[in-house]
Amino acid sequence: PIIFVATEVHPWCKTGGLGDVVGGLPPALAAMGHRVMTIAPRYDQYKDTWDTNVLVEVIVGDRTETVRFFHCYKRGVDRVFVDHPMFLEKVWGKTGSKLYGPTTGTDFRDNQLRFCLLCLAALEAPRVLNLNNSEYFSGPYGENVVFVANDWHTAVLPCYLKSMYKQNGIYENAKVAFCIHNIAYQGRFPRADFELLNLPESFMPSFDFVDGHVKPVVGRKINWMKAGITECDVVLTVSPHYVKELTSGPEKGVELDGVLRAKPLETGIVNGMDVVDWNPATDKYISVKYNATTVAEARALNKEILQAEVGLPVDSSIPVIVFIGRLEEQKGSDILIAAIPEFLEENVQIIVLGTGKKKMEEELMLLEAKYPQNARGIAKFNVPLAHMMFAGADFIIVPSRFEPCGLIQLQGMRYGVVSVPTRSIRR
Ligand code: ADP
Repeated sequence: PIIFVATEVHPWCKTGGLGDVVGGLPPALAAMGHRVMTIAPRYDQYKDTWDTNVLVEVIVGDRTETVRFFHCYKRGVDRVFVDHPMFLEKVWGKTGSKLYGPTTGTDFRDNQLRFCLLCLAALEAPRVLNLNNSEYFSGPYGENVVFVANDWHTAVLPCYLKSMYKQNGIYENAKVAFCIHNIAYQGRFPRADFELLNLPESFMPSFDFVDGHVKPVVGRKINWMKAGITECDVVLTVSPHYVKELTSGPEKGVELDGVLRAKPLETGIVNGMDVVDWNPATDKYISVKYNATTVAEARALNKEILQAEVGLPVDSSIPVIVFIGRLEEQKGSDILIAAIPEFLEENVQIIVLGTGKKKMEEELMLLEAKYPQNARGIAKFNVPLAHMMFAGADFIIVPSRFEPCGLIQLQGMRYGVVSVPTRSIRR
């Protein structure tokens, strides 16, 4: 049995590729015969989930908290959601960009406690949830499981597994794979915060970290991702090339390259795309569905629908270039915005869909006023529009400074959009 623990799971909650993978990979593993569960926070009142009425108590910081599990069973996967006000209270009814903080790039002050709670609940779920929807498996998952922890938010999971369970003879055979989706986000906090985690002092070396930055404090810090890498059984990354990048030096490894070199990295496995969700022949968000034989006409029609949707002149002979992604330096959205005047010397249209840094969102929103005939910027997280863009655009531009995997290129290939990476743009 495999148990994915993550802060995002599509279609319930997603801000990027992490959500896509935790949404799409488990059904593929289930189809191969594995018993698979995902555990994520219950940020909203997900209508398709039911209240299991199973409660567990976990100690988070200096408080005992009661969490409740919600569940649904879809495409062979047990989807489990951890219900606690630390998640629901903050995010209910709001957009995906608020999963981690009040604004992009700002953490909620209690994020460490929120994610400790998620990991502690996740370690209880396989033992306490009696799940019987599958025709092949029934009962609790039990102790002989593999946890897949994803990114820094779940890096404390192997630590709790050791300190609270294995030490007491529970989960003796359980293993943890720690998957790095993006090493740029590590969870660096003041060293004194180690106390919040309720871990034995012996774990301190795994968290201990010194960097050259002054935020959040000067000097020694704790680094969650470092602990995840150190304490797990195996490290995974989201593409084979990313493994090489991460160990190549402090710049690409964002100062964890040494830690990674000390721990033999297992294979990087390319992120898959959920081919049920991303299928132009059945996509519920696109007007004209298509396959390899109907692609040419259908895409021309979808382009006109897309142009009308965003208010650009409708003409399928005009090349349409799109960008979909977080508005951050990583994604090169600043490079793109700066380059737009040059693009528009040609007879092309540009549509930029993204959320992120405030300044870039503001620049996006000015595009229509500046270039009414050629450009639109939409500062929203809009999944239906993203699908329409893949179905109708000619090119998807990927000016990323680095890209651990990049799902948009995969989505582009699946829909017949030519993906244009950074190097081509620089040339
Ligand atoms: P990352 O995980 O670094 O954010 P990826 O390219 O791997 O980047 O995955 C991003 C995912 O989020 C893709 O599924 C993409 O279609 C989706 N996405 C990104 N921004 C938006 C947006 N503003 N609206 C809708 N979907 C978006």
